[in-house]
Amino acid sequence: MTAPIIQRLAVIGCGLIGASVIRAARAKGAAGEIVAYDLSPRVRARVRELGMADHVVDDPIEAVRGCDLVIFAVPSAAIGPAAATSAPGMAEGAIVSDVGSVKGAVSDALAAAVAPGVFVIPGHPIAGTEQSGPDSGFASLFEGRWTILCPRPSEQPGYDAALERLTAFWTALGALVELMDASHHDRVLAVTSHLPHLIAYNIVGTAADLEAVSEGEVMKYSAGGFRDFTRIAASDPIMWRDVFLLNKDAVLEVLGRFNEDLQALSRAIRWGEGDKLEALFTRTRAIRKGIVAAGQESAEPNFGRDRKGP
Ligand code: NAP
Repeated sequence: MTAPIIQRLAVIGCGLIGASVIRAARAKGAAGEIVAYDLSPRVRARVRELGMADHVVDDPIEAVRGCDLVIFAVPSAAIGPAAATSAPGMAEGAIVSDVGSVKGAVSDALAAAVAPGVFVIPGHPIAGTEQSGPDSGFASLFEGRWTILCPRPSEQPGYDAALERLTAFWTALGALVELMDASHHDRVLAVTSHLPHLIAYNIVGTAADLEAVSEGEVMKYSAGGFRDFTRIAASDPIMWRDVFLLNKDAVLEVLGRFNEDLQALSRAIRWGEGDKLEALFTRTRAIRKGIVAAGQESAEPNFGRDRKGP
């Protein structure tokens, strides 16, 4: 039997993503021992009950002690503070990573929180569902999905080897790994994930306001497209609050462009320019076909199938 890629893994935060990392690492034998910690005693009790990890500890410093990989799977704004809390327990040479949906701000917060002797390599699995909590995690979540790693510019000897190990870890979990600069990640995700969520939150909010006027018809006839938006708009409020606050610049930039394009569409509708509408809808249909052909039709964060994990 070959040695596991990681000897001792700590996962801090055991919600959907943390629990999925734990389950996948165990299922694939990617970590020799797995330690779990969550701020919430209720979540820790549930993780113990589910028997997912080898150790569930009550102390965030003890959780990371002796670990060669620590993954923070908490809401984006909590990653820096959580890393600072655990930092005294981190061994020199440990890899410190995360799964946050925003990378620029989180990468800087992580680096500022830990000692210079550890390797900070932020990450983001582009996989998820709108569920939260330890019961929603499942081992196959990352299978065939992209995980983006955002290495920091580093002169540390051993950094490249650490990056190779983290890449091997995610690959063992079934993920396809891509390396990307953190600010590029944030611009790409602003378009592919953050803006779509903002639109969903907005449209469901607007429709709920109109509901009062239309006496229940919005909900009754929701199959006409609205239902899909309600699923996305059911995504975790804390997680998405953090995403918009931490990726403000990129989101506002794409939102500006989106508003311009929406204005152009209103104009086309007002003036009966069917050719313009048809040209756009034909182009977007081809984009959808391309995504399905690439096998990524359910890969966006919170755009996943309504899957519940084993
Ligand atoms: P989740 O299900 O809500 O789990 C987060 C867990 O972290 C909760 O149990 C929370 O406890 C705990 N927590 C909060 N602050 C903590 C701290 N300081 N120390 C330890 N535990 C703490 O959220 P999730 O969906 O797994 O998301 C986790 C991260 O993954 C986020 O950064 C998110 O951006 C990223 N992500 C999510 C998705 C997705 O589709 N959901 C996809 C890709 C990446 P409480 O509940 O008591 O606060």
